[in-house]
Amino acid sequence: MDSFDPASIVVRGGHFIGGEYVDDDAARIDVARPSDGVVYASVPVADAAMIDRAVDNAFAAYRTSGWARMAPRERARILRRFADLVAADAATLAPLEALGSTRPVGDAFAWDVPYTAEGIRFYAEFADKLGGEVIATDHDHLGMTIAEPYGVIGAIAPWNFPLVMASWKIAPALAAGNAVVLKPSEMTPFSVLRLAELAVEAGVPKGIFNVVQGDGRTTGDALVRHPRIGKVTFTGSTRTGAAIMAACAETGTKPVTLELGGKSPQLVFADAPRLDDVARRIAGAIAGNAGQVCNAGSRLIVERSVADDLTARIRHIFAELKPGTTWTRGTTLPPIISEPQAARIEAIVKRTVASGAHLQCGGARADGGAPGAFYSPTILSNVTAQSEAVREEVFGPVLTVQTFDTEEEALALAQHPDYGLAAGVHSADIGRALRLVRGIEAGTVWVNRYGRTSDFMIPTGGYKRSGIGKDLGRQAYEANLRFKSVLIDLRS
Ligand code: NAD
Repeated sequence: MDSFDPASIVVRGGHFIGGEYVDDDAARIDVARPSDGVVYASVPVADAAMIDRAVDNAFAAYRTSGWARMAPRERARILRRFADLVAADAATLAPLEALGSTRPVGDAFAWDVPYTAEGIRFYAEFADKLGGEVIATDHDHLGMTIAEPYGVIGAIAPWNFPLVMASWKIAPALAAGNAVVLKPSEMTPFSVLRLAELAVEAGVPKGIFNVVQGDGRTTGDALVRHPRIGKVTFTGSTRTGAAIMAACAETGTKPVTLELGGKSPQLVFADAPRLDDVARRIAGAIAGNAGQVCNAGSRLIVERSVADDLTARIRHIFAELKPGTTWTRGTTLPPIISEPQAARIEAIVKRTVASGAHLQCGGARADGGAPGAFYSPTILSNVTAQSEAVREEVFGPVLTVQTFDTEEEALALAQHPDYGLAAGVHSADIGRALRLVRGIEAGTVWVNRYGRTSDFMIPTGGYKRSGIGKDLGRQAYEANLRFKSVLIDLRS
């Protein structure tokens, strides 16, 4: 599937609570298509009373539906069926995802939907693999830990990959036996509703997977503060993450997983094999999803002797990108999520240029053939660690370039004072690459590649202000469990 007619897509709105659509006469938020700015639907804003209803419903389902108590293998079977239904629904889910987000429909069909299904399957397989352990005690005692779900997980997701980001939260939470109340971004609220419908169809008991709609200030805040929420898992900006952490501390010292922003460096040494491949990797890591990726490799740090050659190749790749709507065949540069976000990108680039940066390409809006906000892939050189575009997460297709002569200089440039989400090292010298892997302060370091594979085993998460805890991998499954310690005296 590589194109569709946006007028042909019908969306279901409202909240999804207890397996039913729920709406009320609450305040509403208009939802626009990023590709052309057309408002195509609205969602209600859940207030504290609606959050009570959703969380109480989830808690009751957690207690009474049998989800947490059933044989884990049975839970796994239901979740595998859920994954199968998601995969089989790609022809519905992909255009729904593309319509309201920045994901071109071809990518949503070939990657986002199957990846979401596979992630659910991956965590289904964990359901009966980790029950706790027997502890080495003396002969007269039996000590053990028992893994137990938290109850209701409050999950809050961003807009940049609506289905995938939500699945990273809900799949391990459900597999571990929890109920979930998910709040998607108010900009991309619809595709996860279809996910919740499919969960019920697969046999996940009603009330175990709920979706509430609304903004952050009203709905998100009420969700994380609710006393029955056992744990919060959040993906979004560093600023919101800090507010959520404070709210969790104030309302019950709730544990929290935070996947936050980044400003990830890409270190390229002159000996990096096949400079053309490196250029493709660097370009893809900043222009993919128009740079609206937490792991975007936004800071190129390159050995001086190859800097001009490499940036020329990247400019060439950027020039080949095709801006366009998410429903048009061949789009490789999708829109920016909203006009305010595009204006922010534009302003950061302008101020960085005004402070002395050289604009090698881009720096202007692109024509996507529709009234959405499109922004040309941009390269800024002659920048320093203090330049705004080097310091701030731009969340757009903007690459800064800094040069170095020694490995020590490269490492010093790679460290960001605040962020530590990911990094890339491109070099033929494995010793040097491994020294840098050790030295770079980041939650993920890729060597001679950049970006995830479809391998769910590898956890992801940030150092420093890029986050706390991990999504994906075994770690994300364990993070949805709490461990009860038991010690039995065998002599009585
Ligand atoms: P955002 O922080 O503005 O919003 C994220 C979610 O939080 C939305 O659902 C929003 O409604 C909600 N929210 C806002 N204020 C809230 C509050 N006070 N209490 C509770 N919820 C609140 O982020 P965004 O603009 O949607 O997403 C972009 C950001 O997400 C970028 O910084 C990006 O780096 C980050 N991100 C990180 C990862 C990762 O894995 N580390 C992945 C994707 C995106």
